[in-house]
Amino acid sequence: MTMRSPQDIAARIHVIHASDDDLFGFAEEVLMEALDFEHAQQFCDPATTAAQWDQQRWSRHSDTENYARWYLDLPIGKILDHRSGSASRSVTKLAELAWLLGHDDVAAAMAATGYPMYGAPKVSVFAAGLGWPITDLVDDPGDRQMLSRMAKDLQCSPDGCTQGCAD
Ligand SMILES: [Zn+2]
Repeated sequence: MTMRSPQDIAARIHVIHASDDDLFGFAEEVLMEALDFEHAQQFCDPATTAAQWDQQRWSRHSDTENYARWYLDLPIGKILDHRSGSASRSVTKLAELAWLLGHDDVAAAMAATGYPMYGAPKVSVFAAGLGWPITDLVDDPGDRQMLSRMAKDLQCSPDGCTQGCAD
């Protein structure tokens, strides 16, 4: 597993910024967090101090991998709640986290996977690729069944869904 250098990350931020693909800045936001203050400064509000940066970086998690593992619960919650907007934002962030962690294979597999079921198949590809199978991440058997069905592009319930899977 190769971690990206600050130069790699800054270069990717510039490319994404210039591309207009990242309309809401979600990819840029997660990439910036991977930079220490010295390298992030060029992208920050000039009033940000090093102490402030270190405080907010990775929501106080120690590194990219710990953050990614913690963050993964968010899209899983959004999928189970059938919240399409926030699920889509989370999938964008997960794809960048895969890239940051040097998992080009996972990032590519996510890109090649469609976006039905609130991104469940993409989130599942990410989780499996990082070694944290999606169904190990929820305790409730009902939630586990929903997730594993949605990851296979099936409606959350074998009896059909009333919350939006069919839309
Ligand atoms: Zn459903």
